[in-house]
Amino acid sequence: MRSPPWPRLVVATGNPGKLRELRELLAGLALEILPQTELGVPSPPETESSFVGNALLKARHAARLTGAVAVADDSGLEVDALGGAPGVWSARYAGEGANDAANNARLLEALADVPAPRRARYRAVVVLVRGAHDPAPLVAEGVWEGRIATVPRGSGGFGYDPLFLVGDGELTAAQLPAALKNRLSHRAQALAALLAQLRAA
Ligand code: IMP
Repeated sequence: MRSPPWPRLVVATGNPGKLRELRELLAGLALEILPQTELGVPSPPETESSFVGNALLKARHAARLTGAVAVADDSGLEVDALGGAPGVWSARYAGEGANDAANNARLLEALADVPAPRRARYRAVVVLVRGAHDPAPLVAEGVWEGRIATVPRGSGGFGYDPLFLVGDGELTAAQLPAALKNRLSHRAQALAALLAQLRAA
């Protein structure tokens, strides 16, 4: 794949699971990938109520503090029986600073009386800015359909993956090999669409 004309790309996330996946997805490009955490950039409060709003806020924040091109992802799980919750609040579903186990436990509790198929999807919006004030950020979205299981299974991935049954199948996202998740996921789809825009630019 042809590489972009800038040498460094700051990845604006403090989430180690996301960072691992984004690194793997960007590995084919000849450019230095720098996690914002390594540059001392703290995560800003996610004050917007949309995925695109939060992704843009995170990308601009990282670009402002580093002076580099920055890419950010905002993502979450939407459950039909919960009217699309937890959505943009997925990371904080069980409360501010909640860990994955607490969020998963709250999700199982909320769905206790909901029968299968408990349809859900992951959504990711990826934004790239060439500077803090970039007037034309690149924006791309990816969606991954699935269902919510009744018991967690698997140890891969992060977040809600042990409860996310992929498509109409019986494997959770946490049971998929990392390389397969990185071909199918909402984040992979969003990033592929973003890279296609970069190639066309
Ligand atoms: P945010 O984008 O930093 O607001 O956080 C997104 C949250 O959505 C994560 O903390 C997870 O709870 C959830 N999430 C997003 N993508 C994934 C995924 O690929 N697997 C599992 N959970 C995810």
